[in-house]
Amino acid sequence: MAGVHHVTAICGRAERNLAFYTHVLGLRLVKKTVNFDDPGTYHLYYGDEVGHPGTILTFFPWEYAPLGRAGIGQAEQIMFRVPASALGYWMHRFLERGVAHEQPIKRFGETTLAFADPDGLRMALVAVAGSEVEPAWSAGDIPREHAIRGFHSVMLMLEDGARTAAVLTDVFGFAQVGREGSVHRLRAKGAIGGIVDIHEAGGFLPAAMGRGAVHHIAFRAADDGAQAELARKVRDNHGVQTTERKDRHYFRSIYFREPGGTLFEIATDQPGFTVDESPAVLGHALKLPQFLELRRKEIEAVLPPLEVAA
Ligand code: ZN
Repeated sequence: MAGVHHVTAICGRAERNLAFYTHVLGLRLVKKTVNFDDPGTYHLYYGDEVGHPGTILTFFPWEYAPLGRAGIGQAEQIMFRVPASALGYWMHRFLERGVAHEQPIKRFGETTLAFADPDGLRMALVAVAGSEVEPAWSAGDIPREHAIRGFHSVMLMLEDGARTAAVLTDVFGFAQVGREGSVHRLRAKGAIGGIVDIHEAGGFLPAAMGRGAVHHIAFRAADDGAQAELARKVRDNHGVQTTERKDRHYFRSIYFREPGGTLFEIATDQPGFTVDESPAVLGHALKLPQFLELRRKEIEAVLPPLEVAA
């Protein structure tokens, strides 16, 4: 399977982020941990029932960070898939809950409902025919028939998309499938998270990191061997340096800055979020990797309280 593994973004207050993604969008908190490189900050993972690759949106809550800005060299919009019959339900829900949203538009033939999270992160729901028969996580008040079914796509804003498209096609198995105005669409084989749109916006401002901005986009590798081969191609075929492999406990990661400026990651499908918790209780307890477990007391003392409502 190819395509997006996860997307990581910056948010403000952790509790507000948790309330929005679980209660308004109906995703599951599949892991409550900390940023391994900055353990005084949470790392919250949302996804489907077990956080399958292609469904995972993660956040670093930096409460006092300045607002970010969409711009050149970053993802400008994250799209989720919903069943074609669900968009009316979601429009009603957004109105009822005061979620900032726009009127639906057609994009590449699909009805797309753009909205923003409480920190201004730009997202959309895309109506995908046939997705109603796919499994979906459903808890709380969102009927399963309307629930989100993983990522549809990410849209990158770039000065010029050619070298980025070359990485996506040569390394990650995407193919160019269409163009609408200044947006080029690339598609991989996986239905979930299988689309990257490149928005060429030459001359626009560069992106600014901060609340409501995407931090990086991770693409899938089946295992360590596949990941090493993808990283080799990035270096050998595209002249881009990659980091060493980092153990993120739920997957292993190699990072690189793609030629258009976006931070990309190659993440393994293995071992997944059930490696340290059973599926029934995912996200309930603060989980720490072994090397941080010794500092649990100190870490818990600096993290803001975060109640996970059932
Ligand atoms: Zn990541």
